[in-house]
Amino acid sequence: MRDLEILESKAQTFYVKKEGIPKGCQQCLKGTKAVLFLNGICQNPKHCWWYCPISEKRKGKKDTYINEIQISSKEQILHELKAINAKGMSITGGDPLYEPNLKKTLEYIKFIKKIKGKKFHIHLYTNGLNFSEEIAIKLARAGLDEIRFNPSKDNWNVMKYALNKGMSVGAEVPVIPEVEYIENLKKFIFYLNKIGADFINLNEFEYSLPNSQNLLERNFKLEAGTIASVKNSKECAMKLIHDIVPKVTIKIHFCTIIAKDYWQLRERYLRRAKTVKLKYEEITREGLLLYALIEGKEKDIKEFCNLLLNELKVPQNFLSCEATYLKLPIKFAMEERLLDLLNQHNLQGYIIEMTPFREEKYQQITEKTPIKLFKEEMRLNDY
Ligand code: SF4
Repeated sequence: MRDLEILESKAQTFYVKKEGIPKGCQQCLKGTKAVLFLNGICQNPKHCWWYCPISEKRKGKKDTYINEIQISSKEQILHELKAINAKGMSITGGDPLYEPNLKKTLEYIKFIKKIKGKKFHIHLYTNGLNFSEEIAIKLARAGLDEIRFNPSKDNWNVMKYALNKGMSVGAEVPVIPEVEYIENLKKFIFYLNKIGADFINLNEFEYSLPNSQNLLERNFKLEAGTIASVKNSKECAMKLIHDIVPKVTIKIHFCTIIAKDYWQLRERYLRRAKTVKLKYEEITREGLLLYALIEGKEKDIKEFCNLLLNELKVPQNFLSCEATYLKLPIKFAMEERLLDLLNQHNLQGYIIEMTPFREEKYQQITEKTPIKLFKEEMRLNDY
């Protein structure tokens, strides 16, 4: 007897106990999967363009990104895979299988598989418009592990070409909270189940800057207390799963906005932080980097650096002294003596929290708090 219990994962997604979570999703949720955004070019299909969440910066553009990093060669992908200690990679766009993109997609899959080995898991997203038996064979030969379709209603049958080619075949579609759409989605799941597809990944419907106008015009509302969840999408998904699970054997996973926007990113940041962290930095629970920054005139900073080495006994390798600023671990900044010294020398000290990147272009300071205030907040949090 199948165990139909629906469980919530640590990352706040939902799945059927017995069937588990598709491999590509498992890696995403753990932050071990990098995302290769091939480019923003696709056929602008009617069924998805109106809710497409791709940003204006990327949509229709030829630029390629691995996670947040814009790249100009495939070798740069390897650098990022190393930075997050990735176990897999997804390929998205645009449509990676659209004719003008296909050659590059195949080239990238072969390249990564050759360097990272067979076990390195690669999955790919497509709208299915350009899919064929021939492309399925090419993808399988290149080493693709998993393919995810979001096909239009009249194009479900293309998925059959991907079956029995040695890769896992599934669908990934949003849960749009409209009666007709949900009815159709139910039929789609039955269809996938019938043809022997491996899984469906349902996404909570997302409000984002690029699609907000279209969603507003269609009367979709934002769920209260959230920044991107469309109202009722989660309820519809949960109801659908409960209704359909006893009738099918296909693996079903529901991915929430919070899983995407918070958990995946947090896990990836944590992994990246471990590999890029410098001696004077600490890693927060969110995977951000934390250190103390002291700013001032060149002459004062130089003097203060010596003071830290001699009076506070900060080890040299924990200190980074530049012309007009210096950086040190927060444990030294928390010493009462440091605040006194800062006052005496008329210098400003802050606790910096920033995203775990070394490339300035991607570094973002998320908080810059005066040391005194930071200490007070810490004391308050202790109570
Ligand atoms: S195929 Fe993808 S990128 Fe293109 S419109 Fe649809 S969702 Fe957006």
